Amino acid sequence: MSRSAHPAGPRHADVLPEGHYSAPPADLNALDRKVWAQTVGRDGDGVLTVGGVSVTRLAEEFGTPAYVLDEDDFRARARAWRTAFGPDADVFYAGKAFLSRAVVRWLNEEGLNLDVCSGGELATALSAGMPAERIAFHGNNKSVEEIHRAVSAGVGRIVLDSFQEIVRVAHIAQSLGRRQPVQIRITVGVEAHTHEFIATAHEDQKFGIPLAGGQAAEAVRRALQLDGLELIGIHSHIGSQIFDMSGFEVAAHRVVGLLRDVRDEHGVELPEIDLGGGLGIAYTSDDDPREPHEIAKALTEIVTRECEAARLRTPRISVEPGRAIVGPTAFTLYEVGTVKPLDGLRTYVSVDGGMSDNIRTALYDAEYSVALVSRASDAEPMLARVVGKHCESGDIVVKDAFLPSDLAPGDLLAVPATGAYCRSMASNYNHVLRPPVVAVRDGEARVIVRRETEEDLLRLDVG
Ligand SMILES: *Cc1c(COP(=O)(O)O)cnc(C)c1O
Repeated sequence: MSRSAHPAGPRHADVLPEGHYSAPPADLNALDRKVWAQTVGRDGDGVLTVGGVSVTRLAEEFGTPAYVLDEDDFRARARAWRTAFGPDADVFYAGKAFLSRAVVRWLNEEGLNLDVCSGGELATALSAGMPAERIAFHGNNKSVEEIHRAVSAGVGRIVLDSFQEIVRVAHIAQSLGRRQPVQIRITVGVEAHTHEFIATAHEDQKFGIPLAGGQAAEAVRRALQLDGLELIGIHSHIGSQIFDMSGFEVAAHRVVGLLRDVRDEHGVELPEIDLGGGLGIAYTSDDDPREPHEIAKALTEIVTRECEAARLRTPRISVEPGRAIVGPTAFTLYEVGTVKPLDGLRTYVSVDGGMSDNIRTALYDAEYSVALVSRASDAEPMLARVVGKHCESGDIVVKDAFLPSDLAPGDLLAVPATGAYCRSMASNYNHVLRPPVVAVRDGEARVIVRRETEEDLLRLDVG
């Protein structure tokens, strides 16, 4: 790796520019266990290792940028969710967070079910041997062709999202001589983000059928009448990156209220309730996520209590974590290309990827951490912004972070907690090639999704 001299970064003296950061950490080489995958550490030379493989070796063998996924960590997290909820509940991994055939096989082996929301995700799941009855099909606008495929394959449930879809799925199932198990996704008027939630009477969004105004009750009425459908439960998903359980409390209260009304009107006790996903992970040291067993205990208690109050048998609970399983298991490995100190502001560090491999910062103003991983450094900390190589000034990977001031081109940086919604949302902006996903385990590394090539790009461009 080359290392060229460059002017020293701006000193962060008394006044630091605006941003989301606290004081620089005492030791920039220290790794906060919360944000890194389980098997990550540093070797004697300060080089980051994961699954017993050093990042310098990974960069040499697979190039940068690359997503590096800790397979043991993925399996451990999947298993922790499975174990926490036990045999009387179901855990559906939300495939949209990151889906590949290797991941489907791991989930299958660890006893999890799988959520898909497009024909592409369904095809991936089936091609890797996930049994159809353990697949749930979501989405607010599934095409007729997608529904046809899902019903023919025998998916375990389709989550109905509109009045049109109730009829559409019933019709397709009937034409195939099937009775399709379905849930109805309702919106309960809870919007949850990170540390806050808002409970309202209405919800202004594209997903689900509103509980408000009796629409959800009407949807149940119609679904119960249609021969092609077997209504097995009610579904609610309230947000993402949630730490506070009180939003789920309000949601469960309202969903159980609907189950009670359904029992009173139709004499039917629907056997399942799905509380969705959205559980938060640590992107930076400021985040304190809960453990799966705490979440399982809280959710089970809430539903049980609400059902006792409504004199209902407690339904079978399912949850759909995506981010909370895969998010912490991967980091993105980048090589530094340029280091540009702006006096009195911060140092812009350009890496060889950017918004094409991580759109979350530009899209949601997401926060990430970052570390120098190809060596240790005891240089002074400098306030840095890690940016990509795209033609867009919003192309920021890590908005505010402290990095060692001797950072130089050729150094490797890693951004932890990029397992969810990074590869799955990756684009070809600027005709940049999407990075590979490399899985590491027990001293071995293997590509599970290969790097795109210019040939791949040109193959789509038929001229
Ligand atoms: C996105 C989504 C999830 C997963 O959300 P995470 O934040 O990744 O846990 C689960 N269920 C539904 C219906 C979703 O749309």
